[in-house]
Amino acid sequence: MSDLEIPSKTTFMLETRQVCKKYQSGTTTLEVLRGVDFTLEKGGFLAVVGQSGSGKSTLLHVMGLLDAPDSGEVWIDGQRIDNLPVREKDRLRNSSIGMVFQAYHLLPELTALENVLAPLLIRYGIFDWFTQRRAAQEKAKALLDRFGLSDRLHHQPRQLSGGEMQRVAIARALITDPQVLLADEPAGNLDEESGAGIIEAIAELNRDKGLSIVLVTHDADIASQARGIVRLAAGTVDIMNAGAAGSAA
Ligand code: ADP
Ligand code: MG
Repeated sequence: MSDLEIPSKTTFMLETRQVCKKYQSGTTTLEVLRGVDFTLEKGGFLAVVGQSGSGKSTLLHVMGLLDAPDSGEVWIDGQRIDNLPVREKDRLRNSSIGMVFQAYHLLPELTALENVLAPLLIRYGIFDWFTQRRAAQEKAKALLDRFGLSDRLHHQPRQLSGGEMQRVAIARALITDPQVLLADEPAGNLDEESGAGIIEAIAELNRDKGLSIVLVTHDADIASQARGIVRLAAGTVDIMNAGAAGSAA
């Protein structure tokens, strides 16, 4: 470890250091992230805003290890994670990071309950699953119940409304007891009322459970419900209004 890699005294829940990411399409290079420094404190709740195409999803994917930065670092709870072997990244995504997407990304053939159980099935593998199944099912049912879905356990996604699908997706993100929840426009496909319900459910997880959250949104009203707002523009973090929830520069 070089001098530069010694973690600072404050351990952030999530941090990016000078993250750069560009895309090549034909002869043009699109520099989406040009050195993003972002920090989320433990128990923090930050909204990331910015125009369409400003790189919000790219940044969230880099933070969630779904995409690798070209350069720069990602840290979670005092550990650098962007340079880990693939297996270790998979393990972290299955234990420390919960993700929720605009389009839900539920598996269409599975019921709501099975979708929520899927991360634990992956974690335990088929052999250990048989000893863990009962406890896992109880946990999944309790989560679905918390989100008002106890009478939808055996529905498939196509039998659910958008708001219900997103609540299943949130339950799936939480079943692994993640340290941080990353949500990308979670209300983006929903009508105003269901969308508000989803954002309220997410805000409540921060307020009541102290879950650390990054919420990507282009909607100012939604962003105002976070405890701080970070704006992405021209590939860097532009405005800092992070209050006590985190900081960015
Ligand atoms: P946002 O979520 O803020 O709308 P994105 O992070 O999705 O923005 O995208 C940022 C820019 O990068 C956009 O111009 C988009 O077209 C481009 N982009 C995203 N992913 C890719 C990719 N895989 N290949 C090429 N360009 C991409
Ligand atoms: Mg996006």
